[in-house]
Amino acid sequence: MIGQLKAVQILTKPMIQQGQTIGIIGGGQLGQMMALDAKQTGMKVITLDPTPHCPCGQVADDQIVAPYADVAAIKELAQRSDVLTYEFENVDLNALRDVADTAYVPQGTHLLYTTKNRIREKTFLRQAGMKTAPFMAVKNRADLSAAIKKIGYPCVLKTCEGGYDGHGQEVLHSDADLTKCDGILSTKDAILEGWVHFDLECSVMVGRNENGQVTVFPVAENIHHDEILHISIVPARISSAMQAKAKQMAVQIAKAIDLRGILGVEMFVKRDGEIYINELAPRPHNSGHYSIEACNFSQFAIHNRAICNWPLPKIELLKPVVMVNVLGQHVAGVRQQIPLKPNWHFHDYGKAEIRHNRKMGHVTILTDDIEQTLQEIDDTGIWND
Ligand code: AMP
Repeated sequence: MIGQLKAVQILTKPMIQQGQTIGIIGGGQLGQMMALDAKQTGMKVITLDPTPHCPCGQVADDQIVAPYADVAAIKELAQRSDVLTYEFENVDLNALRDVADTAYVPQGTHLLYTTKNRIREKTFLRQAGMKTAPFMAVKNRADLSAAIKKIGYPCVLKTCEGGYDGHGQEVLHSDADLTKCDGILSTKDAILEGWVHFDLECSVMVGRNENGQVTVFPVAENIHHDEILHISIVPARISSAMQAKAKQMAVQIAKAIDLRGILGVEMFVKRDGEIYINELAPRPHNSGHYSIEACNFSQFAIHNRAICNWPLPKIELLKPVVMVNVLGQHVAGVRQQIPLKPNWHFHDYGKAEIRHNRKMGHVTILTDDIEQTLQEIDDTGIWND
């Protein structure tokens, strides 16, 4: 009886209506693409970001210009929004907790609390029955020595919080590398991970709404350069059984964490069939950008539908696809390709300052021949730095 009552309560969660307002903390490219989708469905969007005219601010109805951790600004955003979300995991958790009691924050704060910290995240993943790299908490040099003794070389020392795109981590091959660890150890909050000898890296985007409906995207195969995502290939070049396993794992994680919104699940895949979960992104993910053109609904559409508690469709891949990132050093070369490549979808996030390794845009290429498309990308010479 209680179970039935609960089910009824869950099913009666209201939908956010067209014309209501989505508030987005963070105004980078992920917020921008969320906002572009939201505008298409008639929603209003307000973003909070310290940079005036940020990528999201350029397409939103309004922008609050303030630091991400400005509690008063987050409160103002919450007051002016019908539903509040974020585009990155470095949101100030306390500020979000402050408003979560009064504003509608469907993602809650537990997801962010778990995924913000690598130890909490891996502990959750293990409890959810997933394989991860072996890991130990490291607060000082003595912990590091003990962890290396247990885990062995090669291994990787990472900050528990705030790292991205390879920042805040050092790969250790032998004692000679220990001198590189001072910076990370100074945070007094690190994790040592054993090295996973994977064959390829993949990711799966999964969405879930307040009613518990889940939808899952095809598996992307990801190639990194300098620890920054370079190319995503979809479908990943693994067997269909492995693809099904990867998707099933993402769904299991979404349920275990009681997901609302979209979640990126990064995986290390071994050809022998083993899949390790590397990390989770509680938001749209760079490796899901392909879905804008290649799927019936994009990851941004699914995020918006999920946080608005709209029903979720089954995701279909309409065509195989390659997505390639455009960093600062690629912008000029890519712009020269516009007149030459009628089939390429050129995305530019509208960032004012072009910097080396800064994500400035991406290119999506729908294709019947992945290998030929990879060759075509290579032949431009733009990404061979
Ligand atoms: P992360 O920030 O944890 O996603 O790490 C960035 C990249 O470093 C990953 O995409 C992997 O290519 C590599 N990496 C990180 N941790 C490990 C690990 N434990 N074993 C093997 N490769 C790793």
